[in-house]
Order: sequence, then structure tokens, then C-alpha cells
Amino acid sequence: MKIISINAGSSSLKFSLFDMDTNTCIASGYFERVTLEGSFYTIKYNGEKIREEVDMPNHTVAVEVLLDRLIKIGIIASLDEIDGVGHRLVHGGDQYNTSVIITDEVIQDLRKYSVLAPLHNPANILGIEAVRKALPDIPMVGVFDTAFHQTMDKVQYLYPVPYDWYQKYGVRKYGFHGTSHCYISKQIPRVYGKEEYRAIICHLGSGGSLSAVRNGKCVDTTMGFTPLAGIMMGTRSGDIDPSIIPFIMEKEDKKVEEVIDDLNKKSGFLGVSQKASDFRDIYAGVVDHDEMCKLAFDKYVQTVVHYIASYYVELGGIDVLVFTAGLGENSSEVREAIVAKLECLGIYLDVEKNQVRGEEVNISADHSSCQIFVIPTNEELMIAQDTLSLIDNR
Ligand code: ADP
Repeated sequence: MKIISINAGSSSLKFSLFDMDTNTCIASGYFERVTLEGSFYTIKYNGEKIREEVDMPNHTVAVEVLLDRLIKIGIIASLDEIDGVGHRLVHGGDQYNTSVIITDEVIQDLRKYSVLAPLHNPANILGIEAVRKALPDIPMVGVFDTAFHQTMDKVQYLYPVPYDWYQKYGVRKYGFHGTSHCYISKQIPRVYGKEEYRAIICHLGSGGSLSAVRNGKCVDTTMGFTPLAGIMMGTRSGDIDPSIIPFIMEKEDKKVEEVIDDLNKKSGFLGVSQKASDFRDIYAGVVDHDEMCKLAFDKYVQTVVHYIASYYVELGGIDVLVFTAGLGENSSEVREAIVAKLECLGIYLDVEKNQVRGEEVNISADHSSCQIFVIPTNEELMIAQDTLSLIDNR
């Protein structure tokens, strides 16, 4: 059984091809500058990276090129080998709490929720339509970033604003990165050894979010109505006082979209350090005694710890703390700085076990009040697994 997972952005398309008998990724790739001049792709296969510039004026052509190259490179012998395609979909509103077989109705709903994800949902639809044209008989499944968080109680997802904003416009917390949080929550029983658990999952990548999970169900999460909320990120501010927005609009004579753009693209590590959004550069600055990089590092740790403390109380204590995604998996320094602030909760890591990058390891100290794990996330595999299970059960 072979499944492709697709993540379509407005000018990009990422794919991974999985052999579902072994749950292994056979090939993956990134199609960039789709719809723009200078479009190209890179495909990783058999330890090699193939790069080619090809004119891809739209997503349909990108998918055609992808399928053509899968055969030409010799990754598959024919398109008949592909049993299903899973799409990463960003926003399913409060309607989708699980993955679904993609139908016309699902596409209509994605359009409906485009007001809540104006950059992502239309791009996801382009990806679906392109695959449908190229592979009309192959089942497609949609895996929503918001679905995992649908188990939150109203007290958690409601904002304390005029209630009719929620009723009329759907203003509430939705949460994102759900595919990663879901994947990790499914790994916890295996590594922790029990089905019943209270966990805080720290997905720390260029975007980042935490979730509080009880027995596999999301209780709370840090991203909100949009992915701008929660912890500090690579270029996003995370939570701020909303009154800052009109204040800066007036001071800098900016439109609201420009200030929101500043909060999405010029804040976080980049905003505080004034140097870099990538954590590796920030950490190089810390090592070099750069004060602003150190401030960015400390601020980051503070925002993560703030939510761990909050979720610790929300869950009534925790059994498991997980670090995942780019920084969570790879930066022993970030993990150490975060856990150092959790001593008052009896949470300690083992400094030696913590010297790990991108591997699944229990890094807790023997006397820690909860188990601490590094678990690599795999959103693409999660999408492929959901796709397989839905097409199997049709
Ligand atoms: P996204 O999927 O949101 O683009 P990732 O999960 O790939 O993000 O995480 C990217 C972040 O992880 C970047 O800030 C990067 O610096 C950091 N990162 C990746 N590898 C390492 C590493 N070896 N050490 C420290 N940080 C790393």
C-alpha cells in the first residue's frame, strides 16, 4: 500500500510518499515558487536530492510534474501503485473533529471556513483540485489541523468577549498543529506504558504551540482563533495585549493589516533579537554573548514555562511532558532552560540523557515527578495513517 501525503500552500506543495506496510517514507519533496517565476522542486529519494527548475504556473501543473517525476525517477512504476492521497487541511472550523474522506461537501466547507484561514484554506483547495484532476479515481482524505483540539470544553475555547461574536462569527479558540499534537498523544501510551495519562506536549518549531492532553484528548492549547496566539515563535509574537495594535497603527501610521503582518512576520525571535528568526542563529548569538539574542532566548523560555505552569494546574498535575518539532527535538539547551524553571513542580531532567537530537528518548531524572520525553513528530505519517484507515473502512 502506498499513500502520498500532500501539504499545499499558496505557492508551494510538499509531499511525502509512504509505504504503509512498513510505515516508512519512500520519497519526499518540496515544490516551490508554484504560480511564480523561477519555480523548482527538490525530491529526496534513496539518500539523494534531485533538484530541477520547471515552469509550474499553477498547482495542477505542480501535481502533474510530481506524478511524472515519481515514475521517471523510478520511485514508482505506475500511478496504479498509489492507493490514496491525504491532504493536510488547516481549518475545519468547529465542524470537523476528525479526518474525513474528501467529497464536494468537504470542499464547500473548506471554502466556508476560508474566512477563518484566508491564506491556508484556499491553497489547500487548490491542492485537492489538482490531485483530483490528475488522479480522479483515487480516494483522498483531509486531515485538519484544528480537528484534534475539538475536544476542548467551551470554558477553554471561549474568549471573554461579547458572546455574539462567537455566535455570529465563530470567534473562539480553534488551535492548530493538531496533527502533530495528535500524533504525539498517540505515542504517549507506548512510551509511558499506560493508556491513562495527563500530558503537556510542547511542539516547538518555527511556529509553536503547547497542548494539555488527558488520555489522548485535548483539554487546552495555546494557539487560538489564529496561529498568532500563544507562545513566542520564530517570527510570531504569540499573546500580546490587543491594545498595542491601534497604538502602533497611530504611532507608525500603519494600516491594521501592516501591524498584524509585523506581529506574524517581524516579531518573536526576529523581533526581539533584531537578528534572526531561526533558533540556531539565536543560540549562536547566545554563545557569542549577544545580549539581544540572550533576551530573545530568555523571553522564549518564559512564554513556554508560563503555559506549562498554566496547563499543569488545568490538568491537576502531569504524568508526562513531551518536547517535539525542530527546537523541541534538537535543542538540549532550550529543553534544559525550560525544565530548570519547573523545579518547583518537582520536574527534573537528566542532563546527560538530554544530550539528544531528533531521537525518541526519556530524558527525565530518576527523581522527577513526571516523565519527560523527546519524541520526534511526524505529521506526514499521521496524515498517511489517517488516510489509510479511512480508505480501508469505506
Ligand atoms: P516548522 O515545521 O514550523 O517550519 P520546524 O519544526 O522545522 O519548524 O522547526 C524549525 C526550528 O527548529 C528553527 O528555529 C530551527 O532553528 C530549529 N532547529 C532545527 N534544527 C535544530 C538544531 N539542530 N538545533 C537547534 N535548533 C534547531
